[in-house]
Amino acid sequence: MNESALKAGAGCGHDGPALPLEQARARILEQVEPVAGHERLNLLDALGRILAEPVSAAIDVPNHTNSAMDGYAVRAADLVEPDAKLRQVGESFAGHPYDGRVGAGECVRIMTGAVLPDGADSVVMQERTEREDDLVRFQEACKSGANVRAAGEDVARGQTVLEPGRRIGAADLGVLASVGAAEIDVLPRPRVAFFSTGDEIVPVGQPLAPGKIHDSNRHTLFGLLSELGVEIHDLGIVPDEPEALDEALQRASEFDAVLTTGGVSVGAADYVLEALEKAGSVGFWQVAMKPGRPLAFGRLEQALFFGLPGNPVSAMVTFIQLVRPALVKLAGARPAPALAFDVPTRHAIRKKAGRREFQRGRLVSGEHGLEVEPFGHQGSGVLRSMSRADCLINLAPNQGNVEAGARVTVEPFAQPIWNGD
Ligand code: AMP
Ligand code: MG
Repeated sequence: MNESALKAGAGCGHDGPALPLEQARARILEQVEPVAGHERLNLLDALGRILAEPVSAAIDVPNHTNSAMDGYAVRAADLVEPDAKLRQVGESFAGHPYDGRVGAGECVRIMTGAVLPDGADSVVMQERTEREDDLVRFQEACKSGANVRAAGEDVARGQTVLEPGRRIGAADLGVLASVGAAEIDVLPRPRVAFFSTGDEIVPVGQPLAPGKIHDSNRHTLFGLLSELGVEIHDLGIVPDEPEALDEALQRASEFDAVLTTGGVSVGAADYVLEALEKAGSVGFWQVAMKPGRPLAFGRLEQALFFGLPGNPVSAMVTFIQLVRPALVKLAGARPAPALAFDVPTRHAIRKKAGRREFQRGRLVSGEHGLEVEPFGHQGSGVLRSMSRADCLINLAPNQGNVEAGARVTVEPFAQPIWNGD
């Protein structure tokens, strides 16, 4: 990360106004340097990893000119009139080429994917032919090049098929296999550590004494980080004690990124910001969004630091909006811009003008197309609303109450997050 840029951000640290979301995201992204290094992996192990070097094709794909149909390989010059007849001189099957040549007045039976024999330039599909002993009658005239796939039509030898920074998906594995790339160079996975803070937080599986609650944040974060494919380091639960936080931050500073939840508000037991100031530096603290206003961003030595709010919904929403793009860039890829579109809301939405607000909703098919159904209970502690939701409704800062039927912007949870431009 760039130290001076971080210091420049410190102007709106503790006491400054809350940053608009876009500015917060831009400030975070400008601080992120992708992880360095290379790992050479077998192709199948590279699924979900980020390409470190360009991959170019060692061969043409397809490697030979071949048939797109089951039928007959012909010379189009022999079939200028309907009902012409040609003599079948052989067969070309996938993996078993015909080794002769197709001469004038001749054809070769051919299967999909089989090599187009020398002399032939076109393929006529079987359904347009009739056999008459060793002759084949062709119902129609044939255009030269019909039903033929040219060598190199998909990928030409030497062509770059995938660029560095590409996150490898299922189709990419196929492309890489097709050009013969048995091993590829990928970037190391970012090492991401996280812990929960709070004297009231108890691991799931342990009994709850009065006033205690189970730790849900570490589980949602585990899920969100697993979906990203980063290396996950769960550092447990840290009590609301300055010394314990100092020590936890010290331990966490060896990672590439550190996420905490809770303890970043103005409560009497909120010590995360103080500890961050001691152990590293604070870039900014508050973001003008609901849920999620208290959100600390900074640095712990080389690690990016994100102090997320403790409320489970706030932690998830701030992760999606601010942490995820940063981790995508940290991993060496380009974050895709949010996929957002406008649909009518099925119910009225209450909202105060002044800051950006994300409400949870579900996309439903209405009479006139897609609509969004906002949930009634939008409290930032109500994690079940997040669990039922399939999108966030993104309400602009100047937006006030919304009437039923008015259009609002939604961002579905299932959306591209990698391979942006
Ligand atoms: P805080 O940001 O520490 O003030 O916490 C805000 C709210 O989120 C409080 O009600 C906390 O009890 C709750 N909370 C904090 N951390 C967690 C957690 N790991 N799991 C579930 N709830 C939490
Ligand atoms: Mg707390």
